[in-house]
Amino acid sequence: MARYLGSVCRHCRREGTKLFLKGQRCMGDKCAIEKRNYPPGQHGQKRSKVTEFGLQLREKQKVRRIYSIFERQFRNYFLKADKMQGVTGENLLSLLERRLDNVVYRGGFATSRSQARQLVRQNHFAVNGRKVNIPSFLVAAGDVVEVRPKSKEKELIKSALERVEQRGIPPWLELDREKMKAAVKGLPVREDVTTPIQEQLVVELYSK
Ligand code: SF4
Repeated sequence: MARYLGSVCRHCRREGTKLFLKGQRCMGDKCAIEKRNYPPGQHGQKRSKVTEFGLQLREKQKVRRIYSIFERQFRNYFLKADKMQGVTGENLLSLLERRLDNVVYRGGFATSRSQARQLVRQNHFAVNGRKVNIPSFLVAAGDVVEVRPKSKEKELIKSALERVEQRGIPPWLELDREKMKAAVKGLPVREDVTTPIQEQLVVELYSK
């Protein structure tokens, strides 16, 4: 399956909201949503009627794009969430938040999830002292994610950590900036996902 290589700002414009896919640029006035908040393409500014299915589909695409996940993998997360106890939509978001690339981003070690994924793949992180280079690795409560000793001087990570206050750390993570490690205090819950997501629409789409 081919990975999308075009401008990711088009995704934000398509969904009509900031998805924060470009790190620091998303915070400034160069953000495409600030300049052109309408869907991309020739007919982007035309108003068209949105069906219920259309709404559900857009919401699913939005969540997939936020976490940069392929359709098949995303559906697998849904199936797993559906089998878990509790509310399926909330389980789905919790699973997505627990991905190692997301933890690296939310912990402040990277300015975007795509940058975090790259850093994980390049062997810069360890979980509980062991090297992990799989972005989809799911962390558990009590795990400690840390920058590996040989990567502590990496400029990308250091500059991301310098801006960590600007973004804030979710309550389920505890960052030790000096030691470059983040402890998973507990599993993320619905309230910890601050991006506006209507997960119920995704559940309705897949439940058809
Ligand atoms: Fe989205 Fe960031 Fe591009 Fe703005 S700068 S449109 S938030 S990816």
